[in-house]
Amino acid sequence: MDQEVGEQMGDKVKEMLLSEDVPKAKKCTVIGGSGFLGQHMVEQLLARGYTVNVFDIRQGFDNPQVQFFLGDLCSQQDLYPALKGVSTVFHCASPPPSSNNKELFYRVNYIGTKNVIETCKEAGVQKLILTSSASVIFEGVDIKNGTEDLPYAVRPIDYYTKTKILQEMAVLSANSPESNFLTIAIRPHGIFGPRDPQLVPILIEAARRGKMKFIIGNGKNLVDFTFVENVVHGHILAAEHLAHDAALCGKAFHITNDEPIPFWTFLARLLTGLNYEAPKYHIPYWVAYYLALLLTLLVALLRPVLQLRPTFTPMRVALAGTFHYYSCERAKKALGYRPLVTMDEAVERTVQSFRHLRRKI
Ligand code: NAD
Repeated sequence: MDQEVGEQMGDKVKEMLLSEDVPKAKKCTVIGGSGFLGQHMVEQLLARGYTVNVFDIRQGFDNPQVQFFLGDLCSQQDLYPALKGVSTVFHCASPPPSSNNKELFYRVNYIGTKNVIETCKEAGVQKLILTSSASVIFEGVDIKNGTEDLPYAVRPIDYYTKTKILQEMAVLSANSPESNFLTIAIRPHGIFGPRDPQLVPILIEAARRGKMKFIIGNGKNLVDFTFVENVVHGHILAAEHLAHDAALCGKAFHITNDEPIPFWTFLARLLTGLNYEAPKYHIPYWVAYYLALLLTLLVALLRPVLQLRPTFTPMRVALAGTFHYYSCERAKKALGYRPLVTMDEAVERTVQSFRHLRRKI
């Protein structure tokens, strides 16, 4: 097809989809829709007949069915046009945890989210679904089948997570059935799947550099890794069930694969699936922990003369060596949630999608 004709058809589809004929309940905006989770969310929303706006600081993909609004979520002026006329907003934007920028985390995740809430109200949005994180209750010690009733972490694992807590509290407390503004938070953990720019590429890079040799602890600690399509499913169910129902609105929900897996088994399956060797030497948990602590203290002492950012930190050790898996019973009961994709299929599809990273043998 000639490019001009293609573009004209794209404009027609966009016009049709944005017209008043689409019921308002099916009009939504995905803030952070250019990201990993956001793109999967957009795809499933379109497949379910929604009209989708994407608001992001960048345009991550091309799709004539989607209207893009580029801007910073901290700016009401930028955000308002993307929210006007939609009933539902999915907020899954965040700076990447790896950016390690405290000021940015606070500005975007907390102050920016307060702007999202205010702008939703100004624009007449009825439902706000936040992507939070199960880590908001994790302090680096074992959590087994943790429920949403556990308190927020007093000592969160990092500053990024601290701002996720502030963000979730702001969204849930903004829930106001009297003013027809309903909020809910979805807490995924360890999202993975095709096109994930973080987990698999970073893991393979570490394996290439020979850094994936050691297992911290006995390798039996169970963790939740959640396939991206299941996470999306949880969000859409939340949007569709969110009504003036005290069991739902203003609450947080864990969304998991409901199949916790030993942390090191999961990594081994990805690595061996891509022809890399799985880690095989064990290092006792407390040895790794205190080594990381020592390293952190050394780095702090050297800070006046040398700026280093160690990746081997006590919190990283805790993330890799403790149990932290969460119950999704509340989502099952209140939202009718069931994972759509099993862990076996999810790992298989993820490995397939990253076959370009496979080690040649
Ligand atoms: P991602 O980095 O792939 O996507 C985030 C998107 O937000 C990006 O497209 C980015 O451009 C956009 N963004 C950042 N700052 C913005 C701003 N100021 N204004 C507008 N857009 C902005 O991240 P992801 O992995 O898709 O994560 C999505 C959400 O899920 C985040 O809220 C994250 O905290 C949460 N989460 C992720 C995981 C995981 O394992 N990836 C686990 C738990 C929770």
